[in-house]
Amino acid sequence: MTGIAHNLQAIGKRLERVRGVTLLAVSKGQSVERIQEAVAAGQKAFGENYVREALAKMQALPGLEWHLIGPLQSNKTRAAAEHFAWVQTIDREKIARRLSEQRPEGLPPLNVLIQVNASAESSKSGVAPEEALALAEAVGQMPRLKLRGLMAIPEPGALRERYRTVKSLFEQLREKFSFDTLSMGMSDDMDLAIAEGATMVRVGTAIFGARQDAKSVA
Ligand SMILES: *Cc1c(COP(=O)(O)O)cnc(C)c1O
Repeated sequence: MTGIAHNLQAIGKRLERVRGVTLLAVSKGQSVERIQEAVAAGQKAFGENYVREALAKMQALPGLEWHLIGPLQSNKTRAAAEHFAWVQTIDREKIARRLSEQRPEGLPPLNVLIQVNASAESSKSGVAPEEALALAEAVGQMPRLKLRGLMAIPEPGALRERYRTVKSLFEQLREKFSFDTLSMGMSDDMDLAIAEGATMVRVGTAIFGARQDAKSVA
């Protein structure tokens, strides 16, 4: 068994104990060959941060489910709408609207998550919790998008409190928008995130090991 297959199996065992948690394998900075090893071990859903890097891998590895987990600029929405199954980083109505308009008719609606930033002092991506409802109401109306839930990339410090904030927001909006996905937790904090209610964890280095420079993989 390869190292990647072994890591996937070990993480799969941890997830089995908490039914219903989906594993997204984060393959940014990993070569097609390494992703292929994960596919051979049964993994089908992969997360990428950069549209251009992802497109090269999609061409080489057809038939997988790709999630965009990095920030999305307006000039990349068409490529994202045409090639990804999920975009997890919705934090602006304008970007969501473009994705809905550009999602090809022949494909099912694009699954999207609203990215929430629960750390008030940060100016990073994501909407503040109090802005999430308004954005969800707008995105929920868009015909070619399917709003599935929330995503968070908490900053270091007070991690548990921030995950709790996002989870409670998820619960507030869940029924109204038929949410089924709360994406939070990475290699170093997946157990904490699951304990706080994550339904999807995004795991890179714990599966693949250290990342390479994106330029050398795509
Ligand atoms: C890179 C990345 C991950 C995976 O991080 P690891 O620490 O390698 O597990 C998860 N989510 C996002 C948004 C990322 O950018």
